[in-house]
Amino acid sequence: GPVRASRETERAPVRVSFEFFPPKTEEMEKTLWASIGRLAPLHPDFVSVTYGAGGSTRERTHATVARIVRETDLAPAAHLTCVNATREEVDGVIRAYGEAGVKHIVALRGDPPTGVGTRYEPTAGGYAYAADLVAGIKRIGDFEVSVSAYPEKHPESGDIDADLDVLKAKVDAGATRAITQFFFENDVYFRYLDKVRARGIDIPIVPGLLPVTNFKQASNFATRTGASVPAWLLKRFEGLDDDPETRKLIAAAVAAEQVTDLVDRGVTDIHFYTLNRADLVYAICHLLGLRPTASVAAVPQVVAV
Ligand code: FAD
Repeated sequence: GPVRASRETERAPVRVSFEFFPPKTEEMEKTLWASIGRLAPLHPDFVSVTYGAGGSTRERTHATVARIVRETDLAPAAHLTCVNATREEVDGVIRAYGEAGVKHIVALRGDPPTGVGTRYEPTAGGYAYAADLVAGIKRIGDFEVSVSAYPEKHPESGDIDADLDVLKAKVDAGATRAITQFFFENDVYFRYLDKVRARGIDIPIVPGLLPVTNFKQASNFATRTGASVPAWLLKRFEGLDDDPETRKLIAAAVAAEQVTDLVDRGVTDIHFYTLNRADLVYAICHLLGLRPTASVAAVPQVVAV
């Protein structure tokens, strides 16, 4: 029968990265650090911390990445956006990241402060688009810079070619990795990858995966981001709105199927939108052959939560 590369004995281990958001409350902070404590021993390539809409989490993002630097030996990537800030303000954030020991920035434009889907207006005196921000970061220091990519195109882009021009501009400005918006249909990713390569863009385009447990929430996200939700996926969660236990099992099966297929088709790096939850992501990583080892500094403050 066909040889399945996804069997971990038959291929090189997959590299993973985990995305978190900065916690708002003490309880959310506990959840986050319990998740970091659980996922750290899997040796992710890096862990990233998002920057709230409109720059709303500036201090909390900084505090979270600074704590990752202080208390773990994980490599943090701090997200940063252009919206609602002057260049001076953004440059200040970049320098502060550098001083905190952060060497990797995920550079984004951000969504309009007036809400996703409303018209974007660059801030006067600010960085207008992600490509400008990438260039600004590179002027300030020798940071590794990752950027976004949209297999189903960014909702504001006229067409996929315009979108590829934007990605090319970000690469020309110094980005060395793109992380994709989440998608549920792997063919969408591979078709996009072909177009990216045909455009002469050769940086890694790391698939960003959202393991879905709360389907209503995910459909909402998807609608806002332009990611399409296939009918077969809706069907799989049909009738489970009040059955979180079964939803969780279905979610694991769906995610397992998606990552197994990606890896079988040659993907070597996967970025997980964890939503600060470890369980499902941990299980998927286990399936991919990753095993915890004790060499990563444990997070001493975290007991069982
Ligand atoms: P860009 O790559 O700058 O492109 C955005 C749009 O602007 C595109 O439609 C493009 O065609 C257009 N455009 C670009 N350059 C020009 C130009 N010169 N002239 C005219 N139009 C142009 N949001 C947050 O607020 N915080 C986060 O931490 C965050 N993390 C993210 C992580 C990932 C991996 C992804 C995929 C998205 C993330 N986002 C985050 C969401 C992101 O900010 C939004 O999708 C935003 O709408 C676009 O940002 P961008 O960096 O992709 O923009």
